[in-house]
Amino acid sequence: MIADWEVAKTQGVCAGCGQGLEPGQEYYAALLEQQEAPEQAEEEKPEASGGFERQDYCQECWERESPEAFCFWKTRVPEPAQKKKLLVDDEVLLEFFERLGEASERAKINFRFVLALILMRKRILKYQQTQLRDGQEIWIMGQVREQTKHEVLNPRLDDAQIEEVSEQLSAILRSEL
Ligand SMILES: [Zn+2]
Repeated sequence: MIADWEVAKTQGVCAGCGQGLEPGQEYYAALLEQQEAPEQAEEEKPEASGGFERQDYCQECWERESPEAFCFWKTRVPEPAQKKKLLVDDEVLLEFFERLGEASERAKINFRFVLALILMRKRILKYQQTQLRDGQEIWIMGQVREQTKHEVLNPRLDDAQIEEVSEQLSAILRSEL
């Protein structure tokens, strides 16, 4: 149902200085919230990935520009001979999931739900029960290691929608260059 994080290739270019990121080089991958006009409807932005944009920065530009990232991680451009499929760290997925807990926008709720499914599959989150609140279905989930509880709004996506959200997530979380 859900693809792993091995989809699109990045441009392999630093968003700050425009220089190519070389094999072996460490860089920062950041998810930035897209600035959007409030009156703009979700339906009018077919390219929007839940309101997030992925940018990569070389170390120098990261320190100089310190972009306001919703979520970021440090990684390394793989050597050409290396296995190409670098998957995003579980910690990053979990941090992204937790930060999305404050979001009320539809696209971010969808992201959070699909992340919850992924974290559940990875046995990082465990489903506990469902609560109905104001006609909405809330999943109560426990984080296995930290023993913390999380509430996840079920947006009642069908399989095709889950697939679509999953692809959007893959596109911004891709860690392969
Ligand atoms: Zn740079």
